[in-house]
Amino acid sequence: MEKVLIVDDSAFQAAQLKSILENEYDITIAQTAEDGLRCSSSGDFSLILLDVVMPGMDGFTLLKKLQEQIITQNVPVILITSLSDVENEQRGLILGAVDYITKPFKPLIVKARVNTHIKLYQYRRQIEQQSTTDQLTGVANRRRYEQYSITKWNEAVRLHVPISICMFDIDRFKVYNDTFGHPAGDKVIAAVAQTASSHLKRSTDFLARYGGEEFVALSVGDSSEKIFKHFQKIRQAIEDLHIPHDPSVSEWVTVSMGGVTIVPETDSAYDIYLKIADTMLYDAKKNGRNMVVWADERMKQLWEK
Ligand code: GH3
Ligand code: MG
Ligand code: MG
Repeated sequence: MEKVLIVDDSAFQAAQLKSILENEYDITIAQTAEDGLRCSSSGDFSLILLDVVMPGMDGFTLLKKLQEQIITQNVPVILITSLSDVENEQRGLILGAVDYITKPFKPLIVKARVNTHIKLYQYRRQIEQQSTTDQLTGVANRRRYEQYSITKWNEAVRLHVPISICMFDIDRFKVYNDTFGHPAGDKVIAAVAQTASSHLKRSTDFLARYGGEEFVALSVGDSSEKIFKHFQKIRQAIEDLHIPHDPSVSEWVTVSMGGVTIVPETDSAYDIYLKIADTMLYDAKKNGRNMVVWADERMKQLWEK
């Protein structure tokens, strides 16, 4: 059930709106704009019904704040008000409300408008989801990675917390394709992604297909010691899938991993560290593959084998 937030200082009005919508939606009521702002930042809501005239912060001000927060930016807001003059309607729509309903409202009209905007929002989410997901593996695609890495990097700089970048790549995969064919190769790429993804489930973890048979993972919060071990576990889990490789290469399909952990400073540049992760991956390849090589916070190199 989609969630709808009603922000209205009048308990009576809010209850009336709730009774109109509660059969189809999961309703939450906030009685002040401040409370509405707090509720909405959970990112759970698919639509917000917002009263304009409220004591303290008014609906227009809340609307502006919702537009500024990344998490609520795209959530449709329908203004509900007794202000029936054109000027206020104009102001609300210019501020970014998707619709405007004046009190006293007609239940069927409220319902129809809410349904329409929820449908549009679902459609938008679906398109966004498709445009940021890699078709073959279901993990984030390169495009999503480019956005996400900037956001997370800036966050780590601001909060001064460790961030780890790991690049990994399937070993001798050209041979695999040559021996077993491209469709079989595709299945391997999907299996590798799925295994890595099942070990990167925390909200601070992220995995994307970087290109071809290469992946990039980000993780925020842990020291190099901890995260280095965690990626060894992932590398092992991929080996333990026991996908037969061409015997001239190795018994099973494996990956090589290169990573780096840093506590970034304001003047640190993400790309430099991505390059370091890539250099670690190169070293893992050069030194026998199927291993993790890491650069710790002091840029000391850690070797799995
Ligand atoms: P290394 O251990 O050094 O990584 O060797 P490699 O053979 O894996 O590296 P190389 O970069 O030479 O070859 C990568 C291969 O991955 C070549 C390409 O055919 C294959 N590949 C890239 N993308 C896909 C894909 O989407 N599906 C399949 N099946 N193969 C892919
Ligand atoms: Mg490879
Ligand atoms: Mg490669």
